[in-house]
Amino acid sequence: MIVVMSATATAQDIAVVQNKIKEQDLEAFVSNGQGRVVIGVVGLNLERLTSLSSLEGVAQVIRVSSPYKLTSIEHHHERTRVLIGGETGANAVPVGLNDDLVVIAGPCGIESPEMLLDTARWVQHQGARALRGGAFKPRTSPYAFQGFGLAALEMLAQTREETGLPVISEITDPAHVEIFDSHLDVLQIGSRNMHNFVLLKAVGQSRRPVLLKRGFGATIEEWLMAAEYVLSSGNSNVILCERGIRTFETATRNTLDLSAVPLLRSKTHLPIVVDPSHGTGQRDLVGPMALAGAAVGADGLLIEVHPDPPTALSDGDQSLNFPEFGTFMDELRRMHLLRDRPVSQPSNATSGNGIAPIDELREQIDDSDQNLLSLIQARAQLALQVQRQKGYNGHGHDVNRERQLLERAAADGSGPLSPQEMETVFGAIMRSSRAAQRREAQDVVIGRHE
Ligand code: PEP
Ligand code: MN
Repeated sequence: MIVVMSATATAQDIAVVQNKIKEQDLEAFVSNGQGRVVIGVVGLNLERLTSLSSLEGVAQVIRVSSPYKLTSIEHHHERTRVLIGGETGANAVPVGLNDDLVVIAGPCGIESPEMLLDTARWVQHQGARALRGGAFKPRTSPYAFQGFGLAALEMLAQTREETGLPVISEITDPAHVEIFDSHLDVLQIGSRNMHNFVLLKAVGQSRRPVLLKRGFGATIEEWLMAAEYVLSSGNSNVILCERGIRTFETATRNTLDLSAVPLLRSKTHLPIVVDPSHGTGQRDLVGPMALAGAAVGADGLLIEVHPDPPTALSDGDQSLNFPEFGTFMDELRRMHLLRDRPVSQPSNATSGNGIAPIDELREQIDDSDQNLLSLIQARAQLALQVQRQKGYNGHGHDVNRERQLLERAAADGSGPLSPQEMETVFGAIMRSSRAAQRREAQDVVIGRHE
């Protein structure tokens, strides 16, 4: 902190400022500039120097370092890795530093042991590394589903037992720290409680990591100060979670502030997770914004998944169903944002189940893909020939024939693809053929061809 004295400040004014600083066990370095005195202040208790600017002869007080000492990257250059789960640390999931992107998934609210276990098994199978489910739901309306409370904590502990997934849930009451510690791997502070300093200090006493959501009306600095409450109370395992802020926009539930991710990187050493479910409030926006969050450097993603979103007791609109979550995880892997887990491969010798070894099956797939490529190109070639025969006055394709083909594709029940999937595949082939026809027609009609 720098205190700039006014040009008219007296020696007495300067001495008063120096004394104020020393009273707080801080150090003051006085330097005499051209006609002006500047005092540098160093120490931890800068926050207590609230009234310096009102002292006689003080022109300006300038903050140089960040007010969140433990959270800031200024004094802690190495990024923090938070380990979640794994009592011994051996099978703990690392979040932060240079570790793999961690996907945390689960239902907004825990509705029954069965739905929790089904969801856990599914998200684990798809590559999620931790399970999150709400037991205490702080809802805007007192009449909305409030969660099953302690009973749901038992369900989480039981599900961890059965799947090995670390479990996370939101804590709303400082008196619950002990029971959360004994049942869970991570304590979540929800957006509505980010300013609850009593709760922040309480989870500072926990031996579990804390997932600290951004208050929906909080600035980055207020959020980092909230983290500082947890760190300064003794718990340095904090993961920050961007979950959207309230803006003038009403088309989405919140405005997901993805610029916060790279910005936080320059301000704090703590890991950062993005929650596109609450950030958008809409199922179809969750995947794209999660990909974007991963692309801007999030250490993890928090995704709401429900076995049957239309019947969910909370946040159904923003929850992915099982196939949607699977497709999303594939997309993450396809974009190299998520590494494939090392899957133990079954041995290549025929395993006695009558199925050919994987290498052989893959060779067959490659052959069949090669055939498909040639067939699709050959089909497009034929479509061009039809157009040449017809001339370029009308469009080359016959809408009735296309409709018939789609109907045939949908009615084909000879393999595992559903009617809808067959329609999608043939629809794409036809669209591409038509695009080739259009390109040729355009070349001819505008005379670039002979
Ligand atoms: C939740 O995670 O289900 C939740 C209530 O989120 P937020 O605190 O971000 O609103
Ligand atoms: Mn929710």
